[in-house]
Amino acid sequence: MFNNLSDKLDKALHVLKGHGSITEVNVAETLKEVRRALLDADVNFKIAKQFTNTVKEKALGQNVLTTLQPGQLMVKIVKDELTQLMGGDAEGINLSGNPSVILMSGLQGSGKTTFSGKLANYLKTKKTKKPLLVACDVYRPAAIDQLHIVGDQINVEVYSDIGNSDPVAIAQAGIAHAKANGHNVVIIDTAGRLAVDEAMMTEISNIHKAIQPQETLFVVDSMTGQDAVNTAKAFNDILNFDGVILTKLDGDTRGGAAISIKSVVNKPIKFIGTGEKMEAIDVFYPSRMADRILG
Ligand code: GDP
Repeated sequence: MFNNLSDKLDKALHVLKGHGSITEVNVAETLKEVRRALLDADVNFKIAKQFTNTVKEKALGQNVLTTLQPGQLMVKIVKDELTQLMGGDAEGINLSGNPSVILMSGLQGSGKTTFSGKLANYLKTKKTKKPLLVACDVYRPAAIDQLHIVGDQINVEVYSDIGNSDPVAIAQAGIAHAKANGHNVVIIDTAGRLAVDEAMMTEISNIHKAIQPQETLFVVDSMTGQDAVNTAKAFNDILNFDGVILTKLDGDTRGGAAISIKSVVNKPIKFIGTGEKMEAIDVFYPSRMADRILG
């Protein structure tokens, strides 16, 4: 995960780590390298610039040049800023409803169905909840089958209504089914398309309005870099979602989406997907991710 970025940042900061004392020139050169590393990772230009400006200000504010171990302090400032950029503290999901309704949104192929299963499995095992999965993709029968396969794998019931072409009605019926059968969490998997289009946005917005979920999550493939960030913006404008799920981090060597998405949509990344298996789910901790990136 993020190997390229880690290597480049390590090289950039390495110069400072060894120094007993550093000069303004050292700091400026390092920050230039840090910015370059972020741009190579597909971080948006403005965000990269803002990031290095903030690090510079903090370094000056903490009189980094006159401290005993200026290199270490610089690394700490970069780490803290990276943590802030990715969201500060970890944020959980709202499970206050009975049932708590969680609506999944995102493009086709982003990993919604897989993540719906992972989340159901996580809530069942870690939070002793009784989830129900609801299949609301009315265009691709294969998507409904896929959710049933996932449900069987983790032993979680799946509600579907093959032949019904109204996703709002299916979602509502799914919630009613949950209430009648003692499920305290409902995870609604929806249809995505290959790119943002009006029909998809209208559909997800209608489902959202009708069911008023406790939690609306936006699922995105982290490997798509700045596209992921742009798609997040489009969905957030319509749904004002509560959190982001970054999938396929196991294959992401760059890390641009993970670093930029929070500051563009101002919504936390809540979970990450790190593989195809049902267990490949982790709570997203910005500080742990910053530690991982900076080694
Ligand atoms: P959906 O169209 O949004 O429902 O996407 P799917 O859940 O069908 O996922 C699309 C593909 O990505 C499938 O082949 C999944 O196995 C794969 N996938 C989903 N999440 C991850 C992940 O975190 N890591 C990896 N490597 N593959 C994933």
